[in-house]
Amino acid sequence: MAILTVHRFPDPVLKQRAKPVTTFDKTLKKLSDDMLETMYLEGGIGLAAVQVADLRRLVVMDLKNGEEKNGKPAPHEPRVLVNPEILQAKGEIVTEEGCLSVTDFRAEVKRAERVEVAYQTLTGESKREWMEEIGAVCIQHEIDHLNGKLFIDHLPLLKREMVKKRLIKMQRADQEALRDDVRIAKRGEPQRKAKA
Ligand SMILES: [Zn+2]
Repeated sequence: MAILTVHRFPDPVLKQRAKPVTTFDKTLKKLSDDMLETMYLEGGIGLAAVQVADLRRLVVMDLKNGEEKNGKPAPHEPRVLVNPEILQAKGEIVTEEGCLSVTDFRAEVKRAERVEVAYQTLTGESKREWMEEIGAVCIQHEIDHLNGKLFIDHLPLLKREMVKKRLIKMQRADQEALRDDVRIAKRGEPQRKAKA
């Protein structure tokens, strides 16, 4: 397995619309294994292939990631959903969302509370199931990724523009700090961390 690079806003790949999976081969299984490993390392509960710059409609999830059971990390409950789509949605729920592609920012987003999802397994078997609450929120967030949409795109227009500007500014500052580190390292001085 390998750790993949999670692309961050404003990387243009995050605006791409992913394409349906038609070939259920070894590379699809490898992608899902690598995505799960990356998601566990980054501490997320969901990851869409678009976020690792692979434009296949594939999502991995583990709603238990980061939870504890009897003082120990909860056992993993990995899920892989290929070509997921929402058949019907019911109710409303507002939760605070974050995203591995949008660092250091969280916001409340309103979504459907229950959704019926159709998807395929890694071997191409068709399934349907209802997902609720955090599961429903997570799959809606991930399907958005497959359609080139981020959770910040759900914010009201003015707030959205403000947040995007701030995130771009923060990312530039990070990149400059990183360049400074490289320069310092090249001069043979001890390297300092990019972020305080
Ligand atoms: Zn996300």
